[in-house]
Amino acid sequence: MHEMPIAQNILNIILEEANKIKAHKILNIKIVVGEFSYIVPQCIQTYLDFLCVGTKAEGAKLIVLEVLAKKQCEGCKFVMNKDLEVCPKCHGRSTRFISGFEFYIESIEVE
Ligand SMILES: [Zn+2]
Repeated sequence: MHEMPIAQNILNIILEEANKIKAHKILNIKIVVGEFSYIVPQCIQTYLDFLCVGTKAEGAKLIVLEVLAKKQCEGCKFVMNKDLEVCPKCHGRSTRFISGFEFYIESIEVE
């Protein structure tokens, strides 16, 4: 259960942002979560519901944008499915992940 400190971090960041722009209430929080980030968005929402009580973010909804893992060929830069070991274009074997590990706050909606 590592979502608790993550939820706390998210809350700290969004409250700071809300103060900066003098918002009264945070309505929703958009986060980007990669397929391989091993974060369970539902857990974050649960912790946020609990942590946000009495703050400007009370009742805020978490909107999750999931990013699928993708690989790129080192040789020809072809972007492919994460399960492929060999590049379908140039048959090169040297590939690396270019997405799937993301985790960040994209935006917040306030009033
Ligand atoms: Zn290739």
